[in-house]
Amino acid sequence: MNLYLGIDFGTTGARSTVIDSQGRVHCETEYTFANNGQQQPELPSVWQNALWDLIEQIPPTIRNQVRAIAIDGTSSTVMLCNTDGIPVCEPILYNDARGAAVTERLRAIAPDNHTVLSATSSLAKLLWLQDFREETAPTFFLHQADWLAFLLHGKLGISDYHNALKLGFDVDTLCYPNWLIEGIAGAATPELPQVVAPGTPVEEVRAQVGDRFGFSRDCMICAGTTDSIAAFLASGVNLPGEAVTSLGSTLAVKLLSHTRVDDSRYGIYSHKLGDLWLVGGASNTGGAVLRHFFTDVELDNYSTQIDPEEESLLDYYPLLKKGDRFPINDPNLPPRLEPRPTDSVKFLHGLLESIARIEARGYQLLQELGANPLTKVYTAGGGAKNSVWSGIRKRYLKVPVETPVHTAAAYGTALLAMRGMTD
Ligand code: ADP
Repeated sequence: MNLYLGIDFGTTGARSTVIDSQGRVHCETEYTFANNGQQQPELPSVWQNALWDLIEQIPPTIRNQVRAIAIDGTSSTVMLCNTDGIPVCEPILYNDARGAAVTERLRAIAPDNHTVLSATSSLAKLLWLQDFREETAPTFFLHQADWLAFLLHGKLGISDYHNALKLGFDVDTLCYPNWLIEGIAGAATPELPQVVAPGTPVEEVRAQVGDRFGFSRDCMICAGTTDSIAAFLASGVNLPGEAVTSLGSTLAVKLLSHTRVDDSRYGIYSHKLGDLWLVGGASNTGGAVLRHFFTDVELDNYSTQIDPEEESLLDYYPLLKKGDRFPINDPNLPPRLEPRPTDSVKFLHGLLESIARIEARGYQLLQELGANPLTKVYTAGGGAKNSVWSGIRKRYLKVPVETPVHTAAAYGTALLAMRGMTD
């Protein structure tokens, strides 16, 4: 049987899923990072051990039927390697804002409102490495997923255009723009990765890795993607107008569209997905605020006492600290959590209703800026299991709200490996 392996490196752990060509799951494995993956100097070896461990947990009889493998990583987690692929310094994680130190240089290089104009973008991190590290030997600049795939195929300096978006790669012309090449030119310029479409077959598995784990010699390693796009792919959404809302610690929306929308004023950007665009934005509101006030058991219990058809008049902007970017762009936006009723059910109703309003406003903004009209919303993340919340959200979104069969990013990446081999 032909099987396909997807490997997901998320924020707190790594997972793998093996599927067949019908999309049926044959095996899932999991690895949790100690210390939330934050111990920086040792991170590459933590990731490498996680990769080998995930593969080792897959039964040998499944491993030897794997035809293709793809890996996703957290967006804008980047690293600098020598010409042998060995990291020369600690990786810089997705949420590391040290790039704020190079804001002026970044603004001078990049066009107005460009996606890279953020302290956490891959380009900001590259500029930081140039300005704050003395490097004379040649280096390669890689994303987390690029490096992990390199461990499997041994070809250094390959990326995909989902990971490379926040580096400034132009997905319209499929090349690095001149403003980027000229802006980073200098003595300490690392080699930028060659960028291919996500899922593109790159190279057969290295003989050493194939022999160690019992992969067949022609098992292909395909280009990967980012963890949040992988989660979108898992949902199976493929029609313009359909969307996925992720109700995890934060609220993230992604709408499939014929048209591209990019506006760094609201943190809105578009990923290329075949001939379509995945237009998205992320708010700081979401499940972390719910978890601040309620346990998961309370969330379940109190939710069942809420009538989703009844409107709560409590108008909050639930945040744990000031500031949001999407759909309201204001770094000083204060959390609004008053008035707080003594009845916990009423308070929760107000919170769920208010987050639903922010979600609906987010989709409205994407459409106002040119994305396709919303037709259906799938929900992923911890909030997806709350059917009362889905009812409230449906009232605001005015389209069907459904839970997809598959939500794991590793499943989406396995689909990518499968399509890479069959398209
Ligand atoms: P992440 O991966 O972003 O940390 P998850 O997708 O694991 O988050 O979702 C966790 C979030 O789900 C928590 O912040 C929690 O508040 C929320 N959550 C858990 N159970 C419920 C529920 N029944 N209703 C609404 N939200 C819930």
